[in-house]
Amino acid sequence: MSTTSYTCQCGATLRYKQDLRKEPGTVSTTWKCRQCLTPVPGMTAEKLKHQHPS
Ligand SMILES: [Zn+2]
Repeated sequence: MSTTSYTCQCGATLRYKQDLRKEPGTVSTTWKCRQCLTPVPGMTAEKLKHQHPS
C-alpha cells in the first residue's frame, strides 16, 4: 500500500487525518490544511483522512 502525501502551498506535508482540519459545510465537508487553513483538494483529503501513523 502506498502512502499518499500532499504538500500544501505553505510548505507543510499533509499525510494523516490529524494534519487536516475538518470544516463542516452545508453541502459537504471541506478539509483544510491544519497549518494555514488552505482547502485541500477533495480527492486528496479523502485519501489522507484514512491514513493514520502506525
Ligand atoms: Zn498549509
